[in-house]
Amino acid sequence: MTFDFDAVATLLKCPGCGASLILAENSLVCANPEHRFSFPILNGIPQLLAEEALELSVDEWSSLASVDLNKQG
Ligand SMILES: [Zn+2]
Repeated sequence: MTFDFDAVATLLKCPGCGASLILAENSLVCANPEHRFSFPILNGIPQLLAEEALELSVDEWSSLASVDLNKQG
């Protein structure tokens, strides 16, 4: 059974700031440029916990966010 991230990711919100989440290769990334948290996806399950999150650098975040924005545009 697979998890349909494309359908679900748009419904998820960052637990830290309430922004929408961007689906990256193996993580969900907060869309808020002031927050930039990355939540890992382990065994197909997004870990939406502050303790599991990594704060991305601006460069890391913008490369992930811009890929997604280009896809949507
Ligand atoms: Zn956030």
